[in-house]
Amino acid sequence: MSSRRKCAREGCTKRRTPGREYCSMMCRSVVDAFERTERVCRAITGTESDELWVSLVALNDAVSEYRERFTAAWIHAKELGITAAEWHAIQDGALEATE
Ligand SMILES: [Zn+2]
Repeated sequence: MSSRRKCAREGCTKRRTPGREYCSMMCRSVVDAFERTERVCRAITGTESDELWVSLVALNDAVSEYRERFTAAWIHAKELGITAAEWHAIQDGALEATE
């Protein structure tokens, strides 16, 4: 996959949404948090700054894991016969899973 089409969030392996730099709003939010936190950390330094940065890196890693597991869930859903339209409807709450 070319880097031009890959999501701009570090650690994300997903493709960009066409016309955007990121694969999802979640990735865009994390990148925004990095930009904001970098400015804050430069301004305050010290333990609070270090711990804030460490927590953001952990958040970034957690988002990567969540996105990977979400993809795995979609692959499993397809194995269950769920269509792409149904998958989106389930996420939006427009389609309830049957027992
Ligand atoms: Zn992404």
